[in-house]
Amino acid sequence: MSIKSEDLAARAAKVRLFIFDVDGVLTDGSLTYGADGETVKTFNVHDGLGIKLLQEAGIKTAIISARRTPIVLARAKDLGIEYVHQGGHDKLTPFKALLNELGLGEEQVAFIGDDVVDLPLLRRVGFAVSVPNGRKEAQQHAHYITEAAGGRGAVREACEFVLHATGNYERVMAQFLV
Ligand SMILES: [Mg+2]
Repeated sequence: MSIKSEDLAARAAKVRLFIFDVDGVLTDGSLTYGADGETVKTFNVHDGLGIKLLQEAGIKTAIISARRTPIVLARAKDLGIEYVHQGGHDKLTPFKALLNELGLGEEQVAFIGDDVVDLPLLRRVGFAVSVPNGRKEAQQHAHYITEAAGGRGAVREACEFVLHATGNYERVMAQFLV
């Protein structure tokens, strides 16, 4: 293991809350519109299970998205994501409120984002993640860039990284090795 990856693992080991951006991270960034407005977002089933496994490990999960749509509320409900904030480019205010509510420090938070609106969070959290299809500005401020693309398993990869680093991976996987 290289020094850089040891540093990454140490950062991820502290994570108690994982915050997800939606567009370009939990989706591939496509916004599909019909005559009545936005109708469809496509999520990834592997990402969904990754989020569930994080929750089983006792790590809290949240969504902070600049766009507002009931589609995200439906997906969050499916996955049991407790904290959802939508609307507005200011992600810092809901981020600070959430940390205050949960009594967590910035070093205990992971965030995955793909665009410039995510920079304030990427620059603050202990474990900042971006995606290969993200904007270069987001990537420049990330500690870790996933191999899988947003909407194509990036979130699963990041969740598994945290599960390994926090020592929870073997335990949550054991339920499937029956
Ligand atoms: Mg995004």
